[in-house]
Amino acid sequence: MTWRVRWDELPLARGSVDRAAHLRARPDLLTELMAREGTRVVLARGARVAVRQTRTELDLRSPSDPVVTALAEHAQAMFLGADDDGAYLALVHPAEPRPAADPEPGTEPDLGVIPGAQWQRLREVGHLLGPRDAGLAATAVALGAWHASHRFCARCGAPTEPSFAGWQRRCTAEGTELYPRTDPAVIMAVVDPADRILLAHATHWPERRFSTLAGFVEAGESAEQALRREVLEEVALPVTDLEYRGSQTWPFPASLMLAFQARTERTDVVVDGVEIEEARWFDRAGLEAAARSGEVILPGRASVARALVEEWFGGPLP
Ligand SMILES: [Zn+2]
Repeated sequence: MTWRVRWDELPLARGSVDRAAHLRARPDLLTELMAREGTRVVLARGARVAVRQTRTELDLRSPSDPVVTALAEHAQAMFLGADDDGAYLALVHPAEPRPAADPEPGTEPDLGVIPGAQWQRLREVGHLLGPRDAGLAATAVALGAWHASHRFCARCGAPTEPSFAGWQRRCTAEGTELYPRTDPAVIMAVVDPADRILLAHATHWPERRFSTLAGFVEAGESAEQALRREVLEEVALPVTDLEYRGSQTWPFPASLMLAFQARTERTDVVVDGVEIEEARWFDRAGLEAAARSGEVILPGRASVARALVEEWFGGPLP
């Protein structure tokens, strides 16, 4: 059997829990579920989630666990859904945990250390988690980021408060309802007539990191228009034969990545020097050698960029 990317099962696009959206309207849902011992609680801080030491499972806790009780005072609670085993909540604290050695005396209980578990960035462990946990974690981190950045009404500036079991915020002055936002972005593998792939190094990235081009869809644009514009802006190449591949959430803080493959007839790359510092064409042997030697650091395994590069390559890369 030939190797292929499972575009419907990208690392953060999996999930086995029913979101049970019809339950969100129940006014006391979060309180009821926090009082039920069978409820499992996902813990998150910023873009990090609590995972077991193996990093292959979320560190799910029951509501009465002291770690949950301590975090609950400072975190946003949200209903993630239910499966045959019961309901899932998330508690998301807006701030990343402090380093364990942080000498600064804190005014809140130190939530940076959880016995038997560790805080890991979702973008670094998303592909290690199973489908259920990857889906729960992606939703918790995405919703948490939205709550943290929508504390005030965009219409009148008054404070907002959470409602609908964490799936809505409501303006305290005029009742305007706010819903979680997702910002579409396109990401593309651009391939030349010799079947080489174009990978770029962005100015703000760590040294030697190379990935596919990407950019946000602007107001009034389609995904395809955004793709053509971004490639022209960043490397001055016209592209054709756009082919949609798949999508996944990228909640850092609020992106939905729409992945495409595209072709170009030209190879004379001119980088913009603002967003993109360098762009290079790679053939398969060249990219494999560069990745193996560490000359090039490829995008992380949880990312859709990784899937685009490996699909073109025809298998997993180092
Ligand atoms: Zn308002």
